Amino acid sequence: MKIAFDLDSVVIDTYPTLRNCIYEKYGYDIIHTMDKFKINVPNIEPYNMEYEINNIIANNPPAPIQSSVDFINYSDVCDGQNKIIFITARPKYIEKETIDWLDTYINRDYEVYFEPKKSKIIQKLNIDYFVDDRFKYIVDVSPHLRYGFLFDQPWNENKEILTTDNIIRIFDLKTLENFIKCGDLTSLAI
Ligand SMILES: [Mg+2]
Repeated sequence: MKIAFDLDSVVIDTYPTLRNCIYEKYGYDIIHTMDKFKINVPNIEPYNMEYEINNIIANNPPAPIQSSVDFINYSDVCDGQNKIIFITARPKYIEKETIDWLDTYINRDYEVYFEPKKSKIIQKLNIDYFVDDRFKYIVDVSPHLRYGFLFDQPWNENKEILTTDNIIRIFDLKTLENFIKCGDLTSLAI
C-alpha cells in the first residue's frame, strides 16, 4: 500500500502567505476569488500571476499545517513504504526552496515529484491513496487510485457531487489513518 501527498494547502499552509503578500503588493484580497481554481488579481495576466505566486512561495516560506506535518512525521500508516511521497504541481524552478522547506519540517525520508499532470506519477509509482486540496487534481487522479482524499479547504467546499465513487473528503490527515486502517471505504465516498 502506498500513499502520496500534495504539498500546498495539504502540508504547507500556503494560502495565508499568498493572501498577505498579494494584498501588500496589489492591494487586492484574493479571498474574493476563493471559489476559482486559479488565484486571480484584476488586471494581472494569469501567466504573470502564476509566476508571482511561485516567487512568493519561494521567498516567503509559509508555515506548516502542523497536524499534517505531525501525521507525516509520526504516523505508522506510511511505514510500509521506503519514503514519504509528495507530488506537487509547483514548477521545477522553485525546487530548491521546496526542498529547503521539506528539510526543515519533515524528519523522515521523502521524495518529491514536480509534475502538474499528477496522474503520471500516480500511475508510475502505483500509488493507492493520494491527498490533494484541488478538486481538479483529485478528479484527474482518482481513476488510478483505490481512493483519493479531498483535503477540505474553502475553495473546494461547494463542489457538486462527483461522478466517481472513490473520493472522500477529509478535514485533517489524522482521519486518513482511520480510513485506511478500516479498509472498505465505499460508504464514505462523496
Ligand atoms: Mg495543493
